[in-house]
Amino acid sequence: MDDKKKAMVKLIIGLLAVFLIGFIGLSLYQSSMNNDFNNISTTEIERVGDTYTGLYHRPDCPKAKTIVNPVYFNEGTTAAENNKKAEKEGYVPCKRCKPNE
Ligand SMILES: [Zn+2]
Repeated sequence: MDDKKKAMVKLIIGLLAVFLIGFIGLSLYQSSMNNDFNNISTTEIERVGDTYTGLYHRPDCPKAKTIVNPVYFNEGTTAAENNKKAEKEGYVPCKRCKPNE
């Protein structure tokens, strides 16, 4: 009877440890997402314009992450739509990330 109780306690402690580690991992993951530079979403179809250079980028472009005043084109449902909107406002596709290819 005592051995059974001990086994149960060990099981409960083990499960709690697993939950705790999972919870800590999840909250670390979420805070790392929130701390993304410029809060640029990595949504594949979103485009980011740079008013200074007149270029527009994919959100994961290294240059997009250095933009001081980013302009987002994310209202379209496809990348092509967002490209069009950016180009309509006078932005030129970046030669590095080639957002229009
Ligand atoms: Zn770029």
